[in-house]
Amino acid sequence: MPTDFPLRERVARFLADDPGRLLIGGAWADAADGARFATIDPATGRTLAQVARGQSSDVDRAVAAARRALTVEPWASMSATDRSALLWRIADLMTAHLDDLAELETLDQGKSLRTSRFGEIPAAVNQFRYYAGWPTKITGETIPASSGKTPAGRQLFAYTRREPVGVVGAIVPWNSPMVMTAMKLAPALAAGCTIVLKPAENTPLTALYLGRLLQEAGVPEGVVNIVTGFGAEAGQALADHRGVDKIAFTGSTAVGKRLLASAAGNLKRLTLELGGKSPSIVMPDADLPAAIAGVSGGIFDNGGQVCVASARIYAHRDVYEDLVAGMAARGDALRLGHGLDPDTDLGPLVSTAQAERVERFVAEGRAEGVTVVTGGERTEDTFYSPTVLTDVPASARLMREEIFGPVAVVTPFDDLDEVVGWANDSDYGLAASVWSEGLSAAHRIAARLQAGTVWVNCHSILGPDLPKGGHKESGWGYENGAQGLENYLETKSVVMAL
Ligand code: NAD
Repeated sequence: MPTDFPLRERVARFLADDPGRLLIGGAWADAADGARFATIDPATGRTLAQVARGQSSDVDRAVAAARRALTVEPWASMSATDRSALLWRIADLMTAHLDDLAELETLDQGKSLRTSRFGEIPAAVNQFRYYAGWPTKITGETIPASSGKTPAGRQLFAYTRREPVGVVGAIVPWNSPMVMTAMKLAPALAAGCTIVLKPAENTPLTALYLGRLLQEAGVPEGVVNIVTGFGAEAGQALADHRGVDKIAFTGSTAVGKRLLASAAGNLKRLTLELGGKSPSIVMPDADLPAAIAGVSGGIFDNGGQVCVASARIYAHRDVYEDLVAGMAARGDALRLGHGLDPDTDLGPLVSTAQAERVERFVAEGRAEGVTVVTGGERTEDTFYSPTVLTDVPASARLMREEIFGPVAVVTPFDDLDEVVGWANDSDYGLAASVWSEGLSAAHRIAARLQAGTVWVNCHSILGPDLPKGGHKESGWGYENGAQGLENYLETKSVVMAL
């Protein structure tokens, strides 16, 4: 694996400049005990930087800074117009540093530069641009108080105020670090909250780079704090903290369930964007080349490390063989390599542990007699070949659990009711896609699928204006759009005797 891709000048400077400190109250600082951990390039195993390993005392300091920033100027009474302008400035600065952020995301996470540069970093910028429009539209209501008058006969006047929920703990996974970070920071800032961000331990670098851009954009001290570290340490301390009013979490269902107990301490608000095992249904009248391209991209892009990946594909028997062959051909054509290599379609998985996990799933399937149509190989330490499996029983872990690797499971069906039942036979309910040229059939199926998002004739289309959340064990609450903003607002009723 070639390792010496020339880095952009600003990226090289950032990496050379001890980038891994915590951002607390506007100052960059080491963890209180000085502990650090290495963040590595998963394609090469090379250390990119040493990063502060935040502990509960660091989280305490960050939460205190965030609490203070809520009540002092300039944030406490910054006008909605100024908050809008601030969000837009952040987006402008990210755009000016788009190539740097993309390169850093690829180095730290592994994904191809094409994905970072043209997909994910622009998507993160768009989160800030979208929510920049919201601060000036946050309004309450006037209410005709139904009791009419006080006991003393005075007329009542009532209205609601929408206020920031307070200090937000934002906990982010490693699969799409900058997008997931932006999905929390942008609406939280639009609402007037302050934030303690805990990036994933595998991928802290773009958050730390963004921290510098936030300072340059003029985000006041303490409004955004960044505590890097491990989930069981910094993450857990943040989730448990009584000074945190809301946790916005994206990650695995297992950790999400654990956070329910953490939230109970002070009944902090909690939104959970969790795992998935999303089905795709390919009907006999589908535009087959489009379906093959869509579901292949849905499971192979980013090495399948996508919460909404098209992990279970159900193809009508009339098109099943062509679909399997088409997916295998697309998988075989993908070039694996370092994400910074312009010829790379698919980078490494995020870590050795993740590659081992994918390997275990497929080995288990082989032992159970599934057919490996293509792939099924760990080609290097962190690299896994695009894989298509068939003959996978409905009860197999391959069919039921989130693999988070480039592993498609394809099953034929004959009957619509049967396939809708199979698609819904999952603890998860994050997303689904339907492929059909029959408009009314597609709408009818979309209505029956248990999922937070259903795509028709496309997959993995996301945007800041499209509410995204999970049914069943895929989560609580929705990010993006007006609903995404609601997560960061409280309502206060004000009732006056006139
Ligand atoms: P994870 O749950 O292991 O970790 C996510 C984040 O939580 C990390 O920052 C981690 O440090 C932190 N964390 C871990 N244990 C914690 C604890 N006890 N207390 C507090 N924080 C803790 O998930 P991951 O492996 O980083 O990410 C992959 C998962 O994320 C997959 O399940 C994927 O489906 C899910 N995901 C969901 C969405 C969505 O929008 N629904 C989007 C992306 C990823």
